[in-house]
Amino acid sequence: MNQRRPGFPARLPSAASPALPAGAARPATPKAAGSPLPRIAPAPSGVGLDSAAVRGRMVRRLADSGISNAAVLAAMGDIERHRFVDSALVNQAYEDTSLPIGLGQTISKPSIVARMAELLLGAPLVKTEGLGRILEIGTGCGYQAAVLGRIAKEVYTIERLRALHEKARENLRPLRISNVHLILGDGMLGYPKGAPYAAIISAAGGEGLPQQWCDQLALGGRLVAPMAGPDGKQILLVVDKTTTGLKQTVLEAVNFVPLKSGVA
Ligand code: SAH
Repeated sequence: MNQRRPGFPARLPSAASPALPAGAARPATPKAAGSPLPRIAPAPSGVGLDSAAVRGRMVRRLADSGISNAAVLAAMGDIERHRFVDSALVNQAYEDTSLPIGLGQTISKPSIVARMAELLLGAPLVKTEGLGRILEIGTGCGYQAAVLGRIAKEVYTIERLRALHEKARENLRPLRISNVHLILGDGMLGYPKGAPYAAIISAAGGEGLPQQWCDQLALGGRLVAPMAGPDGKQILLVVDKTTTGLKQTVLEAVNFVPLKSGVA
């Protein structure tokens, strides 16, 4: 109702507006609770304003935090994360935080997407041949798949929840990305049709490494996945497939949604 609108400024012309609605990617902005500022609803598109500048700041933060691969930074700067989140969350889209995407699932935070993408590019096979065909387990809203589509030749991404699979399709359609293939299925079984993969990346954390993932990985390829560590807490695991077997490296603690079996 009109009565509830703030008196002034009800709406600013976009030229005078901040890059995103107040609060976006500005940690110093006071939170709504107790704030004397008028509460202005975020512009629905978020974004017609100047999201490139906001992404530019996000990319600088990623670089400052240690992401150094130029292709990864360019992909993070290109893909508009705000298009993958609910309109109510648009003003948080470029903060380094995971956000709900429905059905109890989350879009991973930008720093972990960039970190994992950079790890994939470190595979021995990739160093000689570039990043060819890859498999992502856990499409979710499709954001990471879009980023991966910028750094890999071909991306197969598999999601077990039909509603999210459809949502990702909707989100990706306007981007007209032709090298990202969406599959509805149980990613615990991998996706043999696309194998062997130069890299496999999981966006959901399991209890152990599915044999199928190892089987479907190319020689010289790399798998990056959250996995339960010895104490039950999740760690990021890197597995390189070498001529002498699988070489595992345990990296930092992470916090991903669980890997589940079956399609729902
Ligand atoms: N990469 C996603 C993150 C989604 S969260 C993004 O950018 O939004 C992880 C996703 O993994 C969830 O959508 C969850 O449903 C999915 N998932 C969990 N177990 C799975 C499985 N066995 N096969 C396919 N997807 C799975």
